[in-house]
Amino acid sequence: MLTGIHILLTLKCTNECDHCFLHCGPSRGATFTIGQLRALIRQVQALGTVNIVYFEGGEPFLFYPLLLEGLRMVRAAGFDASIVSNGYWATSVEDGLHWLRPIHDLGIVDFSVSDDEFHRPDKNDRRAEFARQAAQQLGIPTGTISIAPPSVSPHASEDHRGKPVVGGGVLFKGRAAEKLTPGLPVRPRGELTTCPHEDLLSPERVHVDAYGNVHLCQGLSMGNIWEKPLPDLVRGYDAQKHPIAGPLLRGGPIRLATEGGLAMNDGYVDECDFCYTARKLLLPRFPQYLAPKEAYGL
Ligand code: SF4
Repeated sequence: MLTGIHILLTLKCTNECDHCFLHCGPSRGATFTIGQLRALIRQVQALGTVNIVYFEGGEPFLFYPLLLEGLRMVRAAGFDASIVSNGYWATSVEDGLHWLRPIHDLGIVDFSVSDDEFHRPDKNDRRAEFARQAAQQLGIPTGTISIAPPSVSPHASEDHRGKPVVGGGVLFKGRAAEKLTPGLPVRPRGELTTCPHEDLLSPERVHVDAYGNVHLCQGLSMGNIWEKPLPDLVRGYDAQKHPIAGPLLRGGPIRLATEGGLAMNDGYVDECDFCYTARKLLLPRFPQYLAPKEAYGL
């Protein structure tokens, strides 16, 4: 049952991180209008199963009035709300307090700050820390999302039978699959037979972008809410008949590539690396399900 909606308020971002699933960056757009936000929230209400709405991006604070108005609408509709930001706006704790006070007054259950080497290449940049401190001073529940660059451990794991293991927490989809995989050890493609990270059969959460795409995974769309309202999309979703989710459920990325008749490499870093690479090749055949094209760096 779908209980969480992640609104990709914009694909624009202050940064262009190598590990970004959605290829976000300063040159991107795809920003909701207030009218689109209102329409989305009405559709979420009509669905009747959602209890929490997340605002993320891209960097949602780049469109601060829109973020505030969206939050106001979400709270008025009776949903819990959460925000993810890189904290670029907190040039001091005092400044951070000014940005966060209106958000605190509307009420959020979680404020997550992305803070790691990808988001903060300058180690002396303290804005994420200031944002966290300001949130804590206001009593907003606050967390940190921190992803380490990929590292290779020579230690065997049971799963990979004596092969080096790639660590660090990066999922190799989106820009990460293109920028961070060179030089990493690969696993034989025949081993990559599941989707280990998303519940494609019955998702509990989806991301929605301003184009209307409902993402089962970044760039893998259930359908478009500007063409078919969310309640109809969700109730009509048959994972096994979905041209991308179906093969992934039947046998992971190797099945997706085989059913699609794709010529692929012998090995990939992980399931997501294989899946993303196959999906990008399938994009011209299934543009309505592999959307938006920005999720593939296009
Ligand atoms: S295997 Fe594919 S669908 Fe599953 S989480 Fe990875 S990229 Fe997403």
